[in-house]
Amino acid sequence: MDVTIEPVEKSRFFGLLSGDFDALVAGWGWPRFRARQVRQWVYTKETLSPDQMTNLSITDRRTLGERVDFATARVIQRQSSSDGTEKLLLGFAGGAVAETVLIPDADRRTACVSSQVGCPVGCRFCASGVDGVKGNLSAEQIVEQVVAINAMLKRASSSDRVNHVVFMGMGEPLANYDAVMRAVRILHDPDCFNIGARKITISTVGVPAKIRALAGEQLPLNLAISLHAPNEALRRELIPWAEHFPMNEILDAARHYFDRTGREITLEYILLAGVNDQPQHARELSRLCRTLRANVNLIRYNPVEGLAYQRPGSADVMAFQTILRDAGVNAHVRKSRGRDIDAACGQLRRRAQMA
Ligand code: SF4
Repeated sequence: MDVTIEPVEKSRFFGLLSGDFDALVAGWGWPRFRARQVRQWVYTKETLSPDQMTNLSITDRRTLGERVDFATARVIQRQSSSDGTEKLLLGFAGGAVAETVLIPDADRRTACVSSQVGCPVGCRFCASGVDGVKGNLSAEQIVEQVVAINAMLKRASSSDRVNHVVFMGMGEPLANYDAVMRAVRILHDPDCFNIGARKITISTVGVPAKIRALAGEQLPLNLAISLHAPNEALRRELIPWAEHFPMNEILDAARHYFDRTGREITLEYILLAGVNDQPQHARELSRLCRTLRANVNLIRYNPVEGLAYQRPGSADVMAFQTILRDAGVNAHVRKSRGRDIDAACGQLRRRAQMA
């Protein structure tokens, strides 16, 4: 008689909080300290192969290997910038891809992670938005982006590891809320990555109901809102998705977020030459900033092949910042990183698709 052996669905280690992993191995009859031993190998000794976990019995190593997948992503492409920025295109079983970027700055090692494949928002000036959204990334696929960067640092014999995470890669994180929040909790878990909530930033185009949900999570995460325009009409022109979520509702939700968490909001504003970088835009933006506790990050646009928008000149950027500062707004010009690689989100994925 033929017997069909059903393949056992493996658990994904990086989709599990420490408590989930404890419960999983308890279900196998393992004592609790064995879960701690495994986590020590993974998070302290950075060993992702059960075979090398030498304080586990050979039987337990085999069981672990049969039942749990550790890092599953493969690096499809890597780009290195002369300023230290590194960009990886990761591929997962099933075809999902994710871009992730390491941005080193003094003692900060920031991972800029993707939350979706492509993006539903479709900003006119962005590579990720061109082809729409192909799907959501799972919590472990988000967390594995940090794992891949840490592995790259280790291979380079660096003792540095990711200590800040920003959800600013491909995708709208609040459109994949549950997976993003699970990933945030795993990154924050003291028995996993132990990254402080204040070192994690959710960057959204603005989904009011989800901003309010985030305010109730009991985590003082940084919230960045991609505004990119000081009024509704221009915003709708630049961000097609904006028609679903009026600016006044987004700003109301942002005020609620500040009230609940005490965290000042960051408004992200990409300066596009001749489009939203003129003095009247700066004056309008400063009036808007007076209505909430916010600081402004000004970002000089990096042109994207095939899109018509241009990078503004330094004088226009400085003039824009000066108008904001004179009005009492805390405004910074963010350093452009990785300009000699495909620095804007989605560019590496598009190139890989076109190749
Ligand atoms: Fe999506 Fe951000 Fe690109 Fe807009 S800029 S399309 S929100 S990835």
